[in-house]
Amino acid sequence: MRIAVLPGDGIGPEVIRAAEAALRELVPEMELVHGDVGLECHSRRGEYLPEETIDLIKGTDAALFGAISTPLRTEGYRSPILTMRKELDLYANLRPVKNLAPGVGLVDLDVIIVRENTEGMYTGDESVDADGVTLGRRVSRRACERICRFAREHGESSGRSRLTCVHKANVLRRSDGLFRDVFYDTATGSHMSCGDMLVDAAAAEMVVRPEALDVIVTLNLYGDILSDEAAALAGGLGVAPSANIGDRHALFEPVHGSAPDIAGRNVANPSAALLSAAMMLEHLDMEDEADALRSALRGTVAAGGRTRDLGGNLGTEEFASLVVEGLRRRRAL
Ligand code: ATP
Repeated sequence: MRIAVLPGDGIGPEVIRAAEAALRELVPEMELVHGDVGLECHSRRGEYLPEETIDLIKGTDAALFGAISTPLRTEGYRSPILTMRKELDLYANLRPVKNLAPGVGLVDLDVIIVRENTEGMYTGDESVDADGVTLGRRVSRRACERICRFAREHGESSGRSRLTCVHKANVLRRSDGLFRDVFYDTATGSHMSCGDMLVDAAAAEMVVRPEALDVIVTLNLYGDILSDEAAALAGGLGVAPSANIGDRHALFEPVHGSAPDIAGRNVANPSAALLSAAMMLEHLDMEDEADALRSALRGTVAAGGRTRDLGGNLGTEEFASLVVEGLRRRRAL
């Protein structure tokens, strides 16, 4: 088993170090191969995403990514993460959100957000004229079909009971209407109960009736915003993991960015990176190892181990050591 590890910038290397320590404890035979990406990579090598890094991901079983910083001048800049999603056809962005322990977060949530990752508002197709900018927003039948199918299969295999298509088809009648129609076509025969909801209603529901949401399938922009909302409600960006999955490749990353405001100070919460590593293990059919990692993390938090963002005073390394100790204890049982 070979994994591409791409720490990136800011707190990326700090939280990925924690995830690597947990992976080494859980699967000592796993080979972790480092690759370069991001702003610091650009200052070292003149490229934000070297071809070599793409080749590394293509040649390994999965990739674990930290975070990257965006340059101040963005003309001509194309985000490496958007490029990787496109180049590797990572069409499904999976963002599960669940409180780490009772009392963590503002709302009790247990929701899986499945976000279309290749089209919608994020095509980068902006054309400037004398008076403004026009954005090309693409919604294709093929992309709708594969994301709806992915959400259904993932929801069913995870034992979930409700699948909700989130859209804005009351205004965007043809594009979001296509997405909603394809959703109902692909949902036929599912044993989950399937329905749809407007994105503004879903944003409100998450706060006032979070138990109404189970698995959500949605388009790119809505998924981005709803998953950040969910993360904020369940404990903040420090605890939100994600996966970018395609038919041939998969890349796992915390939802948060490089957090330059706290970088280099050993205060970042590595939970999102640890949970991303657990998602990767599950994707690689190592369910027991994934469960062990989640339990060790939850156990650490339930026992009062908290980083600063969750009201505690543990540093990134101290928190990660407690999780690794928890893994060792479980192994010794
Ligand atoms: P970028 O430009 O790379 O996206 P950003 O600071 O704009 O960076 P985030 O990195 O997502 O965006 O951070 C948003 C806020 O959340 C910051 O105040 C940051 O300190 C905090 N934050 C993000 N990740 C973590 C973490 N793992 N632990 C603690 N706080 C975090």
